[in-house]
Amino acid sequence: MPLINFHTHLTSQKEGEVRIVSLNVEEVDNIESLSMVTVGVHPWQTDSNNMEDLLAKFHELIRHPNVIGIGEVGLDRLRGGSLTLQAKYLREQAIAAASISKPVVIHCVRAWSELVETLSAPDLKQLTKAIHGFRGKADLARQLVDRNYYLSFGSILVDPSPELAESLTVIPKNRLFFETDTSEMPIGEIYSAAADILDTSVNELTLQIENNLNTFFGFNG
Ligand SMILES: [Zn+2]
Repeated sequence: MPLINFHTHLTSQKEGEVRIVSLNVEEVDNIESLSMVTVGVHPWQTDSNNMEDLLAKFHELIRHPNVIGIGEVGLDRLRGGSLTLQAKYLREQAIAAASISKPVVIHCVRAWSELVETLSAPDLKQLTKAIHGFRGKADLARQLVDRNYYLSFGSILVDPSPELAESLTVIPKNRLFFETDTSEMPIGEIYSAAADILDTSVNELTLQIENNLNTFFGFNG
């Protein structure tokens, strides 16, 4: 059974892996050849002087049949435009996602309260959302799960701090994903590491994550 890689920037196919490829709106040349893609204007792009063009492209692209979700979008205190500006663009893209009933994949660095505030707006109540590359502590993991976020863990799981291992164990399994992001690491290594920490088998996890994928992207009606 193929393993689901929830978030990667590598556009090649890999045997034994189902890849959800994250593209920013300026790199969608091969969108036709990728069956499952998310697109978004990354927070790092928010200081660009052609934001209007990027957003126009975003609104056009999200209707493409290969686009199954929006992302990565989010907030990053360390890079990109001001947080106020980033929150504005995050909100715009989240509203667009909600309007076509697609989920969002989120990049968040040191802006958790701003993120939760932005996405708790009444008109975003129905939005399905996941944090990608989660590396926070158990308390934060619990708070996000309580607010209906999914959490996706990356290559850091292969050599986790005790805090990160704890985070993984406090999350209900139906809110989990695994990803390689920019790493070339085989996704199987991350599943194995997670199975060890969770005291389960890679098979069990694989089935669970496939269910999660279907629920997250609305594949099962
Ligand atoms: Zn990424």
